[in-house]
Amino acid sequence: MFGEIKGLNEECGIVGIWGHKEAASLAYIALHTLQHRGQEGAGIVVKSGNKLIQHRGLGLVSEVFSKEKIDKLEGNSAIGHVRYTTAGHNEIANVQPFLFHFAHGSLAMCHNGNLINATTLRKQLEEEGSIFHSSSDTEVLAHLITKSNKKTLIEKIKEAFSMLKGGFAFIVFTQNEMIAALDPNGFRPLSIGKLRDSYIIASETCVFDTIGADFIRDVSPGEIVIINNDGIKIERYTNDTELAICSMEFIYFARPDSNIYGVNIHTARKNMGKALAKEEKIKADVVCGVPDSGISAAIGYAEESKIPYEIGLIKNRYVARTFIQPSNELREQGVKMKLSAVRGVVEGKSVVVVDDSIVRGITSKRIVNLLREAGAKEVHFKVSSPPLMYPCFYGIDIQTTRELIAYDHSIEEIRELIGADSLQFISQDGLINSINLPFSNKYKGLCMAYFNGDYPTALYDYEKEMKDKFKTC
Ligand code: AMP
Repeated sequence: MFGEIKGLNEECGIVGIWGHKEAASLAYIALHTLQHRGQEGAGIVVKSGNKLIQHRGLGLVSEVFSKEKIDKLEGNSAIGHVRYTTAGHNEIANVQPFLFHFAHGSLAMCHNGNLINATTLRKQLEEEGSIFHSSSDTEVLAHLITKSNKKTLIEKIKEAFSMLKGGFAFIVFTQNEMIAALDPNGFRPLSIGKLRDSYIIASETCVFDTIGADFIRDVSPGEIVIINNDGIKIERYTNDTELAICSMEFIYFARPDSNIYGVNIHTARKNMGKALAKEEKIKADVVCGVPDSGISAAIGYAEESKIPYEIGLIKNRYVARTFIQPSNELREQGVKMKLSAVRGVVEGKSVVVVDDSIVRGITSKRIVNLLREAGAKEVHFKVSSPPLMYPCFYGIDIQTTRELIAYDHSIEEIRELIGADSLQFISQDGLINSINLPFSNKYKGLCMAYFNGDYPTALYDYEKEMKDKFKTC
């Protein structure tokens, strides 16, 4: 059972471009902008005349695509994908977009998220004769679409979407149109932009700024966006919706320059820092953030607490991803290659250090160590998420309670384990009000399940089984 769910969770970035003569180049830039959402694989499919052609590979966008490769992807529309993989499933067969050829044409698709009924649907489809080439959820949708008895492609797609459960943002691409859709809870972000006459769909709005497009609007839960040469049409495939967007997008995952439902990510993180400072007051000399995702919250903490903000930790952006570490001693050194403490800032000081989350507690322990080795007198660890206690079933790589230090340790125990002088997590209300989405539904439209186990979707029998298993492991 663990194996099943581990393979399914995918934090990814997706983009679609309709009607631009340099579609592949724009998709390349967009994927580069979304690189933080996945570094394991990337792919682009373009519509070249009446054909869909593809290039995909393992690695960073810049490693997968050379100028020659992009030049070969000539066409006026494109979709693209960056992939984050969980261990053991990083193989080319799982790199998206997927391209399928059928008797009546071709279909490409990519997605971000995780279907909670993928295993059930897959089993059903296999029993009916479908053959799968990858372990990705995306292929399930392709089979559902092609098996549908509905007349038009849009009807087939709507029917297929209504059978999916979980968190998903999909882009489906044919010779004639580009169709995007979001799950009924809108777990993952997805936005629409316009660049002159071209339409852009992207996981995050930072893509629009990078390519000079205007933001039009966010896709809402249950919506299906149909873009073709006649323009754009927004319909629904279900009215049974309730927004519960992933709070980890605001805490950790999305880029600070993106907006989700009008909320800027950097501002939300700053507010989280301010809330931390309001919720518990301490005396300290400097505030520093863990680069990169703790920086915005640290700035907010400093602003509210009036303790000066300093750069106390430096991240080396150029550490090779596949650094060969010949010995344990050097492996430890590898950590310092990635992150170092600024002795001139922290020596002899009482330091507040802010990070976005503690998952297994490994990073925070190392950071406390680094700061102490650099001479910090006291280290006060502040976390801009509440304790992570439950796995995510909708696309964030937090999969088993076994991995989560907060599941079976009290805050005091975690403090001791990471070696900090004090440890504080933001409260759930503090988080909800810091993000402050303009909605009046539960948790103001956020999914808070990782913190309180309140999952927005019904969990099916086998997921329930897994959830119970996770709790006891
Ligand atoms: P850990 O060492 O397991 O406690 O990991 C904590 C660090 O992982 C934090 O600094 C976060 O920025 C980062 N993080 C949080 N959530 C995720 C995630 N879903 N995938 C990868 N890294 C994460």
